[in-house]
Amino acid sequence: MIQGLMTVTYIGAIILFILSLGGLSNPETSRRGNLFGIIGMVIAVVATLVGPRVEGGDSYLYILVAMATGGTVGILSARQVKMTQMPELVALMHSLVGLAACLVGMADFINPSAHYAADEKSIHLIETVVGILIGAVTFSGSLVAFGKLSGKIGGKPLLLPARHLLNLGLLLVVLFAGRAYVDAIDIPSGFWPLVIVTVASLLFGIHMVMAIGGADMPVVVSMLNSYSGWAASATGFMLSNDLLIVVGALVGSSGAILSYIMCRAMNRHFLAVIAGGFGTGGGATPAATGGGPQGEVQAITAAETAELLNQASSIIIVPGYGMAVAQAQHTVCEITTRLRDRGASVRFGIHPVAGRMPGHMNVLLAEAKVPYDIVMEMDELNQDFPETDVAIVIGANDIVNPSAQEDPNSPIAGMPVLEVWKAKTSIVMKRSMAPGYAGVDNPLFFKENNRMLFGDAKKMLDEVLSGLRK
Ligand code: NDP
Repeated sequence: MIQGLMTVTYIGAIILFILSLGGLSNPETSRRGNLFGIIGMVIAVVATLVGPRVEGGDSYLYILVAMATGGTVGILSARQVKMTQMPELVALMHSLVGLAACLVGMADFINPSAHYAADEKSIHLIETVVGILIGAVTFSGSLVAFGKLSGKIGGKPLLLPARHLLNLGLLLVVLFAGRAYVDAIDIPSGFWPLVIVTVASLLFGIHMVMAIGGADMPVVVSMLNSYSGWAASATGFMLSNDLLIVVGALVGSSGAILSYIMCRAMNRHFLAVIAGGFGTGGGATPAATGGGPQGEVQAITAAETAELLNQASSIIIVPGYGMAVAQAQHTVCEITTRLRDRGASVRFGIHPVAGRMPGHMNVLLAEAKVPYDIVMEMDELNQDFPETDVAIVIGANDIVNPSAQEDPNSPIAGMPVLEVWKAKTSIVMKRSMAPGYAGVDNPLFFKENNRMLFGDAKKMLDEVLSGLRK
């Protein structure tokens, strides 16, 4: 009876999670999607707590203490984190999913009979090895990604000689040690093989992400998102929990789809990414300084920018990471309203890897209440730049770098970019001539029809707003 009830409840939660993913695919329905996810998670947790797997008594005490501790840390960190630190927080969260999978694997090793019948032993031991492999790679890889995104570890790719062989070697070590673990006759003889599996997997995760640099990081972030789903799924197999298996698979596969979209946006090959063979060769080694683009940069003032916008009838705004840093989205929205009120066409061009996490710009613009129907994807308006009077770039750099198209030796060669330089006038708003995340110099700044508006984006936009015609 209880088991039947659990199954029905789990199916209800799974349906809610699927509805949640559907809702999150569109800014207009994302709030509802989030709500479905929350309700699904509450149902899943409550059903698990009252279900037959929790034995009552002390178990509830341990679970409540763990939930209260984790919940407090989660609430405090989510409240304190700035929007620009969100990608780092997400990477850290992914690492926790990986750690959980590893710990469940270890717990299974210590108390092997807890979650399976005697005749399921071999398959369960394989599940443990696979769970620890995915969990450890996710854990260490996500920690390195956190370090890179937060600037604690340099963005330069670590390119060890024979790195592909090293990766292959580590995987072979996992395979052989895993086999030894499955064949082990008793718990003590399984100890070292499991330790070797764990350490080799951790090293694999570190090496894989350390080898990726600059502009390839978005692919890594979405890939680790996918790995964290598979790690949760592996945990589900180890605990024989169907809900966790399905939910993990949902996160894993949606993360894989996102990785594929990111790969297309970066013009990288999906299979090469999965094999860990990217970020080098044609990849994103930060450019050496000195050989960069040369020429004269033409600065513009906020008042002159306002005048250009006053005269323009078609405007495309390209936001980037700097808009998030400056928290300029609300002023951007006010400027948009002012320009639209006097009849100008204003649209936003969103690059798939703008900012520091997938959908970063869409979230900021939605928060500022910019109408969804003028927020376009790169492919939807790239061909419209030649008919555009003013393209205004707010704190973006790599995503508008023409060297991706013009210089075959550029580390970002082949990456699709927003072609703002084709507009009649382009204005780039940033504080200095510093390069963007990929560390690549930007020849856009030197183009004849480009103007540079130097300063903090929020401050500059406030000044532009005050110069606009009402
Ligand atoms: P970039 O990092 O290329 O450029 C951002 C620019 O914003 C900088 O050049 C900086 O110049 C400027 N800036 C910073 N603060 C301010 C401020 N307060 N006011 C005005 N300008 C400011 O960002 P893009 O969005 O163009 O490109 C995203 C990059 O991040 C890509 O390389 C992408 O691969 C990478 N990435 C993306 C992820 C994703 O999932 N979206 C994840 C990880 C990496 P200055 O210092 O001179 O002001």
